[in-house]
This record gives sequence, C-alpha cells and structure tokens, in this order.
Amino acid sequence: MSLLTLKDIGKIYVSEGNVAVGIRGVNLSFDRGEFVAVTGKSGSGKSTLLNVISGMDSYEEGELFIEGQPTSHYMQKEWEEYREKYISFIFQDYNIIESFTVLQNVELSLMHIEDKKERRARALELLDRVGMTSHIKQKGSKLSGGQKQRTVIARALAKDSPIILADEPTGNLDSTTSHEIIELLREVSRDKLLIVVTHNFEQVEKCATRHIRIFDGAVESDHVISHSEISSDEKTVRSSSENKKKSSDFKKGLTLGKAIFTSKPKLSFFFCLLMIIGTLGIFMVTALCGDAAVLFEKNYMFEHIDGRVVITTQNGEVMSEEDLKAISEKYGAKEYLHYDILLEDYSNYMTFEHEGEEKYLSFCYTYRESFGEDIVGKYPQNNNEVFLYMPISYQPMFGKSSVEIENIYYGSMELKVTGVKYYYDNNLTPKCLFTKEGFRTVTALHYLFDSASNDIRVNVFASEGYLINEIALYNIVPSFDMKDGTAYIESGEYRKFVNTLYDKNYRTQISFTSHYYNYDYNNYGTQKALSFTRLIEDDCIVNVPPEMNRFDGYYDGSIIVSVSLLREISEEVLERSYRQASLFFENDKEAHAAAEKLNNDGYIAVTSDTTYTPEATTVIIGLIVGLMVAFMWLMAIVFLAFFIGLCSNRTIGAFKSDMAIMRSMGIPVKVIKTGMYVRMLIALIPAYILVIATAVLIFTTPKFNEFFTYLYAWQYAVIFIGMLILTFRITRGQVRKLFSESVKKSLKGGSAE
Ligand code: ADP
Ligand code: MG
Repeated sequence: MSLLTLKDIGKIYVSEGNVAVGIRGVNLSFDRGEFVAVTGKSGSGKSTLLNVISGMDSYEEGELFIEGQPTSHYMQKEWEEYREKYISFIFQDYNIIESFTVLQNVELSLMHIEDKKERRARALELLDRVGMTSHIKQKGSKLSGGQKQRTVIARALAKDSPIILADEPTGNLDSTTSHEIIELLREVSRDKLLIVVTHNFEQVEKCATRHIRIFDGAVESDHVISHSEISSDEKTVRSSSENKKKSSDFKKGLTLGKAIFTSKPKLSFFFCLLMIIGTLGIFMVTALCGDAAVLFEKNYMFEHIDGRVVITTQNGEVMSEEDLKAISEKYGAKEYLHYDILLEDYSNYMTFEHEGEEKYLSFCYTYRESFGEDIVGKYPQNNNEVFLYMPISYQPMFGKSSVEIENIYYGSMELKVTGVKYYYDNNLTPKCLFTKEGFRTVTALHYLFDSASNDIRVNVFASEGYLINEIALYNIVPSFDMKDGTAYIESGEYRKFVNTLYDKNYRTQISFTSHYYNYDYNNYGTQKALSFTRLIEDDCIVNVPPEMNRFDGYYDGSIIVSVSLLREISEEVLERSYRQASLFFENDKEAHAAAEKLNNDGYIAVTSDTTYTPEATTVIIGLIVGLMVAFMWLMAIVFLAFFIGLCSNRTIGAFKSDMAIMRSMGIPVKVIKTGMYVRMLIALIPAYILVIATAVLIFTTPKFNEFFTYLYAWQYAVIFIGMLILTFRITRGQVRKLFSESVKKSLKGGSAE
C-alpha cells in the first residue's frame, strides 16, 4: 500500500465567473523514501498539486488516499488532523513567523513534546542539523533568505511528518545557497516522502529519485531516477516523540500562547495596559456599586446589638431606675441601660490632638459589645474611660501595640482612651464603647446640649436680696476633676463685676433652663418641647481649685461642673422626657423569648434585630439608585469591551499571517485559538496582580486604607469574573476574524507574494 495515492484528481478554480483548471486527471502514487521533483511551466498546476496534497485546497474530482484511506469526505477538522499528522510544508517565501526567534519557530513544531527541556534539546539538535546553531536567538525577521529556509526545514523536520512538501523552496535564493538547501533537504528526509516543486531541475537532479513533469494541469511524464550511491543506512532523524507522553491540545495552546505573548513585546505591553485600564474601570464602578449596596442593607429599627431588647411602657409612664432593675431581674436580663438614647444617635464626633493638630473621629455608640481579646490596651473600667473601634487608618495616630493618644474630647468633656481595636472595612462607622456609668455621663452631656435651647445664667443678688446683675454663660464643661456636686464660674465678665462690687455680701445663683422634647420611639410623632429650670445655689459654687488652672481664660463664659452635678441636672430632664430603656440578654435568641414575655405582660418590647419596611418612596428611590448603578456598571463594561475590542481589532493584522503559517504547519485551529486566549489571559495577569496588590495594601497599610474603598470578596469576584468575561469576548471576536478566511488566502494576504 502506498503512502499517498491520487486517483483522477481534478481541481477547478472558479473566481468572478472565470473557470481555471488547476489540475486535472492526476493519477500518482508516492511512497516513503522518495525524492520527487515536480517541474513544469508557470501556471501549469504545480502549486495546486501540492496544495491539494497538503489539504490546504479542496479537490472536486477523484480521490486522494492516505495510507489507503479515502479523504473526499473530510471536513475542515479532519483536514487539520491530516495536516498535523502527515504534512510539513516548505514555501518559496519561507513563511517563517517573523516575530518568533529561530528557536521558537522550531519549538512551535515540537509542541507535542510535553517536557519543556526535552523540547528545547530536540529543537537545538534539529537546528544544529541545519547549521543554524549560532542564530537560535535571532528573530525570524532578521534572517537572510537561506537562513529562513534552513529554519523552516528544521521546523518541518521537527514535526516529524512522513510527507514534506516544498513549493519552490529555493526560488528566492542564490544558486550556491539553493544547492545547500536541496542537499540539506535530501539529507534530512531520507525516510520520508519529499516532493519538491522547482522550475530549475538541474538543482535537484543529483538528489531526486523521481521526476514528474506537469503540463497544463496534467501529468506529462513520470520518470524514476536511480542513484546507486545512496545507501539506506545513513543517519536519519528518528522520531523522538512516538514513545513519549503526548502533550494535550490545551497544553500546546498554553505553550503557543506564551510564545505569541512574548514574541510581540510592545503589543503585549500595550494589551497589559489596556487590561489595567479596563480593570481599574471596573474596580472604580464596582466600588460605587458597593455604596449602592447600602440601600439593600437591613433596616434595623434600633442599633442592633446581640441580645438587646428595647422596652417602653404601654401608657408612656416613666420607668424609674428601680422599675427597670426589677424588670431586669424578673425577666433574666444580664444588664439594663436606663437612658439608651445615644445608641440610636449616629452623627457624633469626638476630637483629639495629634502632633499639634486637631483631628476628628465620627462615631456611633455601642454598649456591651465585645470586640474580642485581640485589642490594643484594655476595655474601659471607669466613668471617664472609652474604648474605640475604628478603621486601621487611625493606627498611625492611636498606636499599634499600645494606646498612644490618651485623651479624646466629647464636646468639652475630656475622656481617657483605654483601648482600641482597628478594622479594615472602611465602609463601617467607628464605634465608642463606655462603661455603664460612662455611657450615662456622655448621655447627660449630650442630652443637655442636644436640647432645643439652653439658657445658663449667673444671677447676682445684693445682700438685701434683690437681683443686681444677670450674666449669660454659653457653655457647660463637665470635669471629672471637680469635687462632687460643685461648679465653678469661668467668666471674665462675672469676675470683673463682683470685684468692683461694693457690697461684698452678694449672693450668686446659677439658673439652668433647658427646653427638651418628649422622647421615645413609640410617641415619636408627638414630640413636645417642655422647659425646666434648675438652680445651682451658692454653696455649690466654688473657686477654681489650683490644679485646675487649665480652664483659665480658655473657657471664658462657661460653667465648669463636676460630673456628678452634670448628671444631677440631666437626670431631671431625662426622667421627664425619656421613656425608653434597653435590656441586655445573652443573645438575640434569649432576647426574642424575653421580648415575647414582656409583650404579654403589657410592655412594649422590641428586639434590636427587628427590621422595618421603609416607606414606598424610599424603596422606589433605592431601587432606582440601584438600577442606575447596575446600569453604570454595565455601561462601563460595554464601553471597556468596545474600547479594548477596537484596540485589539486594530492589532489583528499582526497575527493574520502568523496564524496562517501555523495552520499551514498543521497546528490545529483549536490549539491556535487556545494560544490566542492564553495570550490575552497572560495580558490580564498584571491587571489582576494590581488589583490583588491594592486589596493587600488596603488590608495592611493604614494610609492606603484611608483613601481606597474597602471592597468585599464578592466585589473582587465581580471584578475578576467581569474582566475574564470581557477578555473572552474580545478574544472570541479576534479569533473569529482570524479564522474567517482559508489558510491559503490568509497566507497570500500576509506574505509578500
Ligand atoms: P504553478 O504553481 O505551476 O505556477 P498554479 O498551481 O499556481 O501553477 O496554477 C495553476 C492554474 O490554476 C493557473 O491557471 C492559475 O491561474 C490557476 N489558479 C491557481 N490558484 C488559483 C486561485 N486561487 N484562483 C483561481 N485560479 C487559480
Ligand atoms: Mg506555483
């Protein structure tokens, strides 16, 4: 059985209504070991013959048998497999991949060898055989014609196919080089079928074993030439791949992708940049989406603290401390908080000093919340102590292993920071944690300041009892340093007045008037402003203690009160106006059980994990915003896809001829396509690294954390998957463009012919 048999083969070209005969009625049989020289006039059909044999052109008539198997039913895929297995093609114009190095060009044909080192060794061996060892690192574009053809021969040999077809391989070479190439061809393909088309028979005469003349598309003559001097035991290039593990198409694609990526460094760099731009775009829009996600967060009625139950009486009666204590014991609460108003207050800030600058910390309150053992410093123990839970960007100021900023100011009250815990998710609001007493103290201050209006006044009475002056004060400053129940008037105006007073037996009284609202969530709609006045009598008013001279001048127009006095004043206001309290149970589960009992017993009890349904308008606005953000995200993706797609389509030309050459070499389209995908995925790597680096920086570097939005895992997933989809779509477009034409047409378009 012959290796290759052509039976009545005919090929007709039809283009623009003209019919041209390529070849007709060709009957030929070929075997291994033959060196067939094909000659004939230009246009006689020599190239057509080779193209048909190689499967790059279809035939309309007859049948081509390969190892006895008919091929007329072959589809593109079968032809590819056929080319991959049987054919190596050497062209007149070399068809070397110009952007690949000599070594890469040869390795391209060795992709079936899985082991990288082995592949390299084999390529070097073949290049040595064609005398190209000294040029292995050179790019295809930098070679002379002879060098190119040598490389192509090495490449053809690398494939180790039984058939080598050469279409005028020396057509562009000078005669000396031509001879060398022909001899090289003969030498390296003794056990193969070698068909060489040439218009210069003398060049091949010495080596050829057969001479076929073509005339007008038909075989004119077919002679066997015998060469006695050729011995069959000469060195042949043995297949090294037969008994080795074969590389899968995917692995070949991977190897090819890497080669394509590195062979065009400028273009690859450009694509990396494109991908980075794309990824940053998605990154930014996704960060925005995160803001919109807030709209879909749970709407808690109260600040949710595990185990918290909010309670009021049904008829709006005031609950005293004693009442609460009794309720707390009866229902098994771990603790109660009489005035819990601040837990629902989200717009607070504290100030602190860092390197001579005043800084702010907005925060919300929490109570009985644990931040674990892994904290800097310790939890608060005293009335004037506070624990801060805040973003890592505060770490440089507050310290990494010990608390470095000791004092923080809430209004005019100085608090001690005992411990801190940092978090990375800068979407969160910082929290302040106090002791029960501490919470009560800040509540007092907050409540007095938050009232609709305060009126603090110093009234000076003459010894006879009538009012001689009224001086307004503007500020109330609680101090933990003042003796319990005392107050001090820090007012230049007041001091000046009493110093000039003739009557030294004057009396001073401070009146404190506050307008406040009836406050509880149950009667929120019916707020009432009430007013109350509290007098601080003479015996409470003291001179400033010597250790407290820090108040001198600075708080002019203030009354400095001991914390106990502050609480005394506020107690009255709170008691009159505030009807809500919190009970704390072990966890939400117990809280639910207790709330049920409390409700059955006539209280209004709500667990803090209770959510409310926002008003329809809020829902609709939320929905619109959400949709808009989603739309933006989509538009960003579409725009990026369009932009990157446009850029990539402009570069497609650079690949056209390369891909055609690869196809003519018998590399399956699947492998080449995989290679193109791999190339794009490699271009994506720097962008991914950038995103990961950003994520790591946000997670580790306080300064970075301050300026970049913290993204959640799902958002990173969105970015990564989004970019992946984008890359796949773009590559699919590229690949479609690349493979829309036949191999022959692409080759023509890409070559100088
Ligand atoms: P050779 O290689 O011997 O110079 P070819 O095989 O290229 O000749 O051409 C054989 C005949 O087929 C010529 O008449 C040529 O015009 C025609 N032919 C070759 N390729 C095409 C094609 N793609 N379209 C139309 N006619 C073609
Ligand atoms: Mg030709």
